[in-house]
Amino acid sequence: MAHVQRMSTTLLKTLRDDPADAETASHKLLVRAGYVRRSSAGVWTWLPLGKKVLDNVCRVVREEMDAIGGQEVLLPALLPKEPYETSGRWEEYGDLLFRLRDRKGADYLLGPTHEEIFTLTVKDQCTSYKDLPVILYQIQTKYRDEARPRSGVLRGREFQMKDSYSFDTTDEGLAEAYRLHREAYMRIFERLGLEYRAVSAVSGAMGGSASEEFLAPAAAGEDTFVDCPRCDYAANTEAVTTVVAPADPLAHGPLEELDTPDTPTIETLAAQLGVPASATLKNLLVKVDGKITAVGVPGDREVDLGKLGEHLAPAVVELVTAEDFADRPGLVRGYVGPQGLDLPYIADPRVAPGTAWITGANKPDTHARNVVCGRDFEVGRYLDVVVVEPGDPCPRCGAGLEIGRAIEIGHIFQLGRKYADAFGLDVLGPQGKPVRVTMGSYGIGVSRAVAALAEQTHDGAGLCWPREVAPADVHVVAAGKAQQTELALELAGRLGEAGVRVLVDDRAGVSPGVKFTDAELIGVPTILVVGRGAADGVVELKDRRTGEREELPVQEAVARLAAAVR
Ligand code: ATP
Ligand code: MG
Repeated sequence: MAHVQRMSTTLLKTLRDDPADAETASHKLLVRAGYVRRSSAGVWTWLPLGKKVLDNVCRVVREEMDAIGGQEVLLPALLPKEPYETSGRWEEYGDLLFRLRDRKGADYLLGPTHEEIFTLTVKDQCTSYKDLPVILYQIQTKYRDEARPRSGVLRGREFQMKDSYSFDTTDEGLAEAYRLHREAYMRIFERLGLEYRAVSAVSGAMGGSASEEFLAPAAAGEDTFVDCPRCDYAANTEAVTTVVAPADPLAHGPLEELDTPDTPTIETLAAQLGVPASATLKNLLVKVDGKITAVGVPGDREVDLGKLGEHLAPAVVELVTAEDFADRPGLVRGYVGPQGLDLPYIADPRVAPGTAWITGANKPDTHARNVVCGRDFEVGRYLDVVVVEPGDPCPRCGAGLEIGRAIEIGHIFQLGRKYADAFGLDVLGPQGKPVRVTMGSYGIGVSRAVAALAEQTHDGAGLCWPREVAPADVHVVAAGKAQQTELALELAGRLGEAGVRVLVDDRAGVSPGVKFTDAELIGVPTILVVGRGAADGVVELKDRRTGEREELPVQEAVARLAAAVR
């Protein structure tokens, strides 16, 4: 028998007004509908209805993790400093870590993610290759002192994560564990009713499938991603690659210098010459570990310094300053060109061999035209460094890409031997020799998934849950006086016996109008109204999502709902 929850006794107070600080729909609605309550910045209390939804998400995650052979464990959130020093993350995490000290003066942290502790657990428990492979997971509270804890449970400082870790002795084993997770994640998000895309998190250069993010498209998301309207390509904007076919460098006229006074910017140059900015080549000067380097991109494009930094990491990338020009007469600010330039030259793939450009002539007030890549200058290294724009070609099919916003709901990652190396995690192999273990780590933001679902499914009237995660299957509204409430409770009981999870609005002294508004706000998928017709055995069923209404005999309503939840 499924549970019947009476609103008259439930800890639930709905609000008519949005919380003052709320920017996103999920934040507003989860607070207003009484699912969560703010405790402090980025720290939330899950109230009864919210706890039900969170538990439903966890149940689906558990079922699918168990199905791929994952074993559930629960590690502490309060962790000693030393393992995080060994991995280097005590420093790397910086201000993101919540650090604390015990009465004896020992340093601790509240776990932001648990690679270190899982590695140590396996080191302790597994000694032979026969003990592997193993997939361990937990659903646990994580702590990160986020700089901008906003958007309610979308980005908390305390939040729930499912994190799992795979341990294998071979690269093939790791690839298999990764594939199992990838498929489990797809089943999880499908069952939850989340619309999602799996995108590669790093550029192809770094090995493509080694890390993927699962993104839930939503305007409130903090991630941007590109989506191909024609094929199934989707990628993190940082990971988009550009493919440009090379052309013949000899098919152009000779290089020609142009007198272009007062044109230190692309705009002034393009205006004076009457050419589009895209015909010009912009050369940005940066310092890579202190060494001045030029970065060439088409004049109508912006360099994404973050992307450049990621490509060149661990080297440090900085912009040049006026002092850097002072002792270099060959560097003419605003008139730099790659031809005859004595600097390392990085370029966007659009600066392909055989393309001709208008660019600086390395002399004041002078530019040059027909400066041809592969004839007049060479590119030292091609990197995708421009900011992606809508309409850029899909690297797979060439169609114009769309750019959207999304919420990162999951991340799967082939770690390899990084942590095993740091902690000396070996097992005895078949030949009796130690074998270094290889690992994967895989996360799902389970509390964030609740908010992501709210973002994707809500409408103007409130929340609108898919049945799998909804706090109940049916919201029975007693729309009248005592008699209807009695009927509603009786009906709720029958539904419960039939295996239907019921929330019944049996509150006395609350008007039908308020009850209907609350039912819409709370977002249970089916609303069953026990109104005037109930005396004659007729009730009204309303689909929360489509708004479709239907009057039907009580008996039929019970049978219909029981069938729907089976
Ligand atoms: P983000 O880029 O959003 O800060 P992340 O890449 O740092 O996330 P991971 O370390 O990959 O996060 O953690 C795994 C998952 O945990 C993420 O995919 C996300 O769903 C969830 N998550 C991460 N940070 C938070 C947070 N502050 N609040 C809620 N969920 C979070
Ligand atoms: Mg991530």
